[in-house]
Amino acid sequence: MGAVVTIVSNAPFKVNMENEPTFTIHGARGTTAVSGRTFNRYGGETTCFSLATRQGILIVDAGTGIIALGDQLMCQSDLPPITIMFTHFHMDHVIGLPLFKPLYRRGASITLMADPHRKENWPDCLRTLVAPPFWPLDLRHFGAAIRFQPLPRRNRRMRTYGVEIAWHPLRHPQQCQAYRFSIQKRSFVIATDHELDADVAGEAFMDFCRGASVLIADAQYTPAEYSTQRGWGHGTWAACARLAATAGVGKLILTHHDRRRTDMQVDRLVRQAQRIFPATRAARAGMLV
Ligand SMILES: [Zn+2]
Ligand SMILES: [Zn+2]
Repeated sequence: MGAVVTIVSNAPFKVNMENEPTFTIHGARGTTAVSGRTFNRYGGETTCFSLATRQGILIVDAGTGIIALGDQLMCQSDLPPITIMFTHFHMDHVIGLPLFKPLYRRGASITLMADPHRKENWPDCLRTLVAPPFWPLDLRHFGAAIRFQPLPRRNRRMRTYGVEIAWHPLRHPQQCQAYRFSIQKRSFVIATDHELDADVAGEAFMDFCRGASVLIADAQYTPAEYSTQRGWGHGTWAACARLAATAGVGKLILTHHDRRRTDMQVDRLVRQAQRIFPATRAARAGMLV
């Protein structure tokens, strides 16, 4: 069983590089950003997570959630070293990148990382996205020193900013990547954009998740919705809850909320998942884990 993790909901986000490592959810919406009062509590920002340590800040994905994170980082006199690790390059996971302010700051050091086995040339994809005609400025002329660095090819492991990092392929169109961050006896698995219900490599993924303090998993669909959305690359709360129970994780956090899912509907999914795995919550923008 993983360590006990306290989740402070909706605490105002501050980048804390001084004390304990801080894991924060900045965006949990799938497919596209949404707004409106029915989405207030869980938020409309798309996928972004961060783990801040004394040595730097690791960011997973650049959905619209990364924009507010960048603004917070810019309030600090010295920017920490920043690494953004991409799970994949679907629009909802990269669309915030042009508005990540640290990219514009001279002297900032930002590393962009992704799976070296991806079929597309992902650095070129990002250079195309952040350049005319899609954006008025060209990423190649931004102020920060920006490095494109594939993840190491061997062992699927590395260490940076004091964090042990492992990764694992996920079933998803164009393939997605799960990350596991371990630091000071806590571990966080981020497994967004994953058709877990149809993952035939389930045993290996189960091992990857085993004993994690926190499992953040794709629960875009209800089981009823999934029956008509097979092959679209997303999972259900039911599969996530079963995985959490079998893999013996400390807490399950459901993410990649469907763009139409209201706060009350998310609450209902959580209650259903809790019948299988009681320590289930739903991801929300601003959540400290
Ligand atoms: Zn997505
Ligand atoms: Zn995707």
